Amino acid sequence: MKQLTILFSLLFFISGHAQDNYLGDGPYSQLIIRGVTLINGDGSPPRGPIDIVVENNKIVSIEVVGYDGIPIKDEDRPKLKTGGHELDANGMYLLPGFIDMHGHIGGVAQGAEPEYVFKLWMAHGVTTVREPSGRGIDFALDLKNKSEKHEIVAPRIFAYTAFGQTSSTFNPLNDAPITTPEQARAWVRANAQRGADGIKFFGAEPEIMTAALDENKKLGLRSACHHAQLSVARWNVLNSARAGLTSMEHWYGLPEALFTDRTVQDYPLDYNYQNEQDRFEEAGKLWKQAAPPYSEHWNTVMNELIALDFTIDPTFNIYEASRDLQRARRAEWHEDYTLPSLWKFYGPSKISHGSYWHYWGTEQEIEWKQNFKLWMTFVNEYKNRGGRVTVGTDSGFIYQLYGFAYPRELELLREAGFHPLEVIRAATLNGAEALGWDDKIGSVQIGKLADFVIVEENPLANLKVLYGTGAIKLTDDNKVVRVGGVKYTIKDGIIYDAKRLLADVKAMVDAEKAKTNWKLKQPGVED
Ligand SMILES: [Zn+2]
Repeated sequence: MKQLTILFSLLFFISGHAQDNYLGDGPYSQLIIRGVTLINGDGSPPRGPIDIVVENNKIVSIEVVGYDGIPIKDEDRPKLKTGGHELDANGMYLLPGFIDMHGHIGGVAQGAEPEYVFKLWMAHGVTTVREPSGRGIDFALDLKNKSEKHEIVAPRIFAYTAFGQTSSTFNPLNDAPITTPEQARAWVRANAQRGADGIKFFGAEPEIMTAALDENKKLGLRSACHHAQLSVARWNVLNSARAGLTSMEHWYGLPEALFTDRTVQDYPLDYNYQNEQDRFEEAGKLWKQAAPPYSEHWNTVMNELIALDFTIDPTFNIYEASRDLQRARRAEWHEDYTLPSLWKFYGPSKISHGSYWHYWGTEQEIEWKQNFKLWMTFVNEYKNRGGRVTVGTDSGFIYQLYGFAYPRELELLREAGFHPLEVIRAATLNGAEALGWDDKIGSVQIGKLADFVIVEENPLANLKVLYGTGAIKLTDDNKVVRVGGVKYTIKDGIIYDAKRLLADVKAMVDAEKAKTNWKLKQPGVED
């Protein structure tokens, strides 16, 4: 039996991964989704039963068809037209499609190819991704195009080019590094012409950042920045926001904007940024060097960022291994869904980015737990005062797996103090606003596109039902079962069976394992 399974897996692999070229079902001239409880992305409470009518890829009606616990009268429901399609989702929960504001489409070092990543995302209800251009703008634009035409199973892609990046076909400066404001402006114009949706910055000299952000804003494009420690002493988050940056990634550069009794991080004198353990260990002591919560400076900086309509995309999950390495390393989905190459990449390494476990122990984790508390306090209060917070994952590093990291990020926003409805809004409408697409996606509203997540359990009561592996439950008759996991992901009016996509991923992983008879092994454990 086992050998048969391996044989089949191999066959699937040889035939190009996808078991049968499954591209979802639809779009339909008319699609009626029947009997759902709607959890919208706008902060409104759940309401149902509701029938949602979609024509091609547009929501045309959202009809309340009854009352809780009362049988629905058929005559009160929207009518199916010829050629129309019904989806019976009676008793299920429907949410707007999820938006991941920080999604790398795999990576060469990780051995993670787009199909693997896309299916993991789509299996977790992620219908839109902002790609911070890890693999080049041409690579991202090609996939964006194929996704738009439904030639592949993939979320809608917003491609943000890494600032200064050149490639064989995108070469605005003949490979010269950007050293003058004029070059920065020229690069930004060429990037817009190329068709990119925005720019991902990592920090640069102040005059370069000023020029690039100004030019990008003039062109009406959006931007994101991971404020790398190398530049934050001269240019922190507040400088960026004032110059026109529209969103920040992670958290670096924010404590620096909050310093009151220093101007640089308290680096140990033998620190080396090229040493990943130095980098991540010292970062864990950074928030406590900033102004304390609710102090005058903390308030002033927060209020100015909010006044600038600045978006924070915290990506909490990608740092979680820092406060609990075992949790991230032993997550139950690694067994079936993590590729051998990815597992190898995650292991302790002086080279792989984020594989900083040279000697990670109790002391480092305790520092990070405190770091998280201060960081979460800032992000939750930012939300309370009207600031925009979004959901981003940054998977493919630090034991965080594509797709599975998404519900984890939702749980961490919950831990930060968000009401589950605020969590869902961060995942949907806030992301749409930050992308400048809130007139098309982000909530279930007449006229918007048909991007939905459908799940059998109530995700507000337990966000864990959004994990592909579901949530564990002991039933009334004493059986241990798994409930949840997204049932259907609908993107552009096309219905995808989320569990089938997950099965595809498992087949890909099995095929890779079969090649070398590979078994998942924890680091440092002998056979
Ligand atoms: Zn990233």
